[in-house]
Amino acid sequence: MSTPRQGLFGTGVLRSMGVSLRHLLLRKRTIQYPEQAAGIGYRFRGRHIFHQDVCIGCTQCERVCPVIAIKMEEHKDPGTRKVVVDRFALDLGICYYCGLCEEVCPTDPKAVHLGPDFELSTHDRRLLVYEMDQLVGPKPPPSKPKAGAPVTPASRGGEAAPDA
Ligand code: SF4
Ligand code: SF4
Repeated sequence: MSTPRQGLFGTGVLRSMGVSLRHLLLRKRTIQYPEQAAGIGYRFRGRHIFHQDVCIGCTQCERVCPVIAIKMEEHKDPGTRKVVVDRFALDLGICYYCGLCEEVCPTDPKAVHLGPDFELSTHDRRLLVYEMDQLVGPKPPPSKPKAGAPVTPASRGGEAAPDA
């Protein structure tokens, strides 16, 4: 067992200096945020995106949410007998981005899914209750490509591989 004196002047100092020197030569990974955008992984779970035109008003996302962050209001159109979503509000202040709401959503593409936006800080918690007109963003690719369509990483929801 080494004594405190051995630990101070032993190989530990040299090893840590070696780590520092190695990192001096490696490519820098820090970026000048927020001037530069941070790289975000394809499965990143940020602020939700909701598509009213895709949603069928089944309320599964509202019922599965473990912290009751989703509040929906809907009515049945007497003409078409379809459920119309009047309100889809999400309290991003209590949501912990588990992704269960996206997972249970039965539509394809998903009517609710987690997007890349994470810049939500505010001084007022009440501003973290987002209504559906704030939960906007691009639609995800459908999980099942159309018949005859070429299957690529992008069509499966992944990123295209860089050219070899
Ligand atoms: S990500 Fe999880 S906690 Fe957030 S709204 Fe969806 S189900 Fe609720
Ligand atoms: S689970 Fe999907 S389809 Fe059902 S209410 Fe929620 S967003 Fe709409």
